[in-house]
Amino acid sequence: MKETNWLRIVLSFATECKLKMIFSVLCAIVSVTGGIVPYVGVYQIIILFLDGKQTVTSILFWAAIGLAGHIVRLVFYAISTMFAHFSAYSILENMRLRIADRLMKAPLGTVLNQTVGKLKNVIIDRVETIEIPLAHLIPEGISNLLLPLGVVAYLMMIDWRMALAAIVTVPVAAGAYAIMMKTFNKQYADYMESNSYVNSVIVEYVEGIEVIKAFNQSTSSYEKFEKAVESFKAYTFNWFRSTWKLMNFGGAVLPSTLLGTMPFGMYLYLNGSLSPAELTMCLILSLGIVAPLASFTVFVNDAKAIEYAVKDAAEFLNLKELDNANEPAKLKQYDIELHNVSFSYDADKNSPTCMENNVLQTVNLKLAQGTFTALVGPSGGGKSTVARLIARFWDVGSGEIKIGGVNIKKLPLTQLADTVSFVTQDNFLFNCSLRENIRLGNPQASDEAVIAAARAACCDEFIRNLTNGYDTNAGEAGGKLSGGEKQRIAIARAILKNAPIVILDEATAFTDPENEDKLQKSIAALTKDKTLLVIAHRLSTISNADQIVVMEKGHIAKTGTHEKLLKGCELYRDMWEAHIGAKNWAANNEKGAVK
Ligand code: ADP
Repeated sequence: MKETNWLRIVLSFATECKLKMIFSVLCAIVSVTGGIVPYVGVYQIIILFLDGKQTVTSILFWAAIGLAGHIVRLVFYAISTMFAHFSAYSILENMRLRIADRLMKAPLGTVLNQTVGKLKNVIIDRVETIEIPLAHLIPEGISNLLLPLGVVAYLMMIDWRMALAAIVTVPVAAGAYAIMMKTFNKQYADYMESNSYVNSVIVEYVEGIEVIKAFNQSTSSYEKFEKAVESFKAYTFNWFRSTWKLMNFGGAVLPSTLLGTMPFGMYLYLNGSLSPAELTMCLILSLGIVAPLASFTVFVNDAKAIEYAVKDAAEFLNLKELDNANEPAKLKQYDIELHNVSFSYDADKNSPTCMENNVLQTVNLKLAQGTFTALVGPSGGGKSTVARLIARFWDVGSGEIKIGGVNIKKLPLTQLADTVSFVTQDNFLFNCSLRENIRLGNPQASDEAVIAAARAACCDEFIRNLTNGYDTNAGEAGGKLSGGEKQRIAIARAILKNAPIVILDEATAFTDPENEDKLQKSIAALTKDKTLLVIAHRLSTISNADQIVVMEKGHIAKTGTHEKLLKGCELYRDMWEAHIGAKNWAANNEKGAVK
């Protein structure tokens, strides 16, 4: 969606509530029409009096007509507001769903580069600001626009000169507003910028309060906070001060319809070209449009508020999605091949001319089906990047990645997700029961299958020891679960998913011997007969791999088995010796401690 007009963007989310919106608008029009009826009633009663034909019945009749009109106005206004609220909320719902959908389909990097604060602010707060103006803009905005137009039309029917007299203040007020509006856009933009700066300072202050206290920085941090709030106040105040004269002048003049109708009406009456009944009616009618005209400025502000909220949301609504194939491909094999893959996290600099930004440079690698491949190498060498590209969290810059001979870009994202299990070190548990957390691996799985997976991942025992067993909420259990236990739950989830390809980011933490043993068992259950890729941090766990790939600075330095690499790759030998040395050192230390 490349649309930039905020109104069109809002309306593009209104497709399913279009009828409700149209109905709301129609009701608003009926309500406005009903609002004019009491004036007609009053007009008729005045005529009755002036003609000396007033009777109780005739007065009551016109009074009843007026009352009926007023009731129509109120009832239809209520219906219009109700449908406007329905529409506004479904527009909000659609916008939020679309943002969530875009976040899901965008490259992971784009999503992770956003701060949680910003995402929350846009999806919840900014989108919410659209609701009130939108829900009120439809019924009230329309009433406030149509009522004066209707009244002026009615005045035209009575006497066109009086109609013009009633709107004589409009050009004067419009002049004042035009001067004000010249800087309004710029000032509103500055105001929003100032507003988000204060927000960010407040969030920083609250989030960093622990560090601020620990380092005794409360005075200087508070000063920054205070300055931001102070300057926001000063900015807002100056803005209002610079506009209040014109705003109040416009606000006072615009609804003062009597300024034109009173003297001009008197003149026409004295002239003999306006009857007393017509004069009275014109004066009453011109008073009737005071309120809608007075609220005109509010709607300019409301429209601006929507515009800005939509602008903020549009950043996420327009997130570039990964291309997604529609037709699932038939995969006969689950081998993986990386062919000349280059990649940079900085998408714009992905061109071959900017090689220095490439995190991976012309990587070629084959993982045969059902084999175990380990990626090793110094930190920052690109191991995790290779794994993420295979799961298509990002798209390759150049080259291609194939699974079973099919380019992964040709696989629908859901099929790829079903094919690849990615177990990271970040074992996120959702705020639902442990049973449901495991079932996420396969939402159709029976309770028995969930428990079998948990057993295979060595989770069953500790889960049963929790007060509510499998029904324990992960949030409540969070504090009681060790890092290793959380990881085994994540592995149980992946076991249940039973994807033919498993990518495992080996945990560096939780390496106490008891957990290590269980972890290895659960990993063995997960990876049996799978095409397995492990990002290895501890070389002893992968020495039996079918192939070990040594990565350094975005290149593959060497590929081979453990024995071959020990002989033929200096980097691997150094890493192995360092690892064994560290292991021995730790073991000796442990022995020393026991003594
Ligand atoms: P390894 O797994 O071997 O430690 P990575 O693949 O994580 O290496 O990182 C390779 C390079 O890419 C590093 O220089 C790292 O700083 C960079 N990098 C990793 N993730 C991101 C990211 N999300 N955005 C930008 N650069 C990244």
